[in-house]
Amino acid sequence: MTYDTNNIFARILRGEIPCDKVYEDSHVLAFNDIAPAAPVHVLVVPRGAYRSFDDFAQRAKAEEMQGFFAAIQKIAAMKGLAEGGYRLITNHGADASQTVHHFHVHILGGRPLGGLLAGDVSAR
Ligand code: AMP
Repeated sequence: MTYDTNNIFARILRGEIPCDKVYEDSHVLAFNDIAPAAPVHVLVVPRGAYRSFDDFAQRAKAEEMQGFFAAIQKIAAMKGLAEGGYRLITNHGADASQTVHHFHVHILGGRPLGGLLAGDVSAR
């Protein structure tokens, strides 16, 4: 699968469409999810063109990876989530229901989040 340069997060990174920005640095842009699933629901997006975690893990430089994960920790702390807790989610591919094909991590928190796959009835 090739990287679609017109995916919505690529367009946000280029400034073509707006976002509700939370944080940015040389490695990432972070913004509030348009359909929040928790009181805090921030999407953290690397500036590089990666389709998903799988692609990022194979191709990103160590410096990009370090910058990406350091930014997540910083944003969670900024949002006051470190003490109460938070969840990180990233979806790769069809079985995970990835809908935007630019790598991103969801930071979720601000309330008890329940089980790992809330809503699922079985592991089949
Ligand atoms: P995923 O299913 O992991 O690919 O998640 C994509 C996420 O992007 C969903 O939670 C959407 O609500 C969110 N989303 C889609 N378009 C936008 C947008 N323009 N601004 C902010 N969040 C968006």
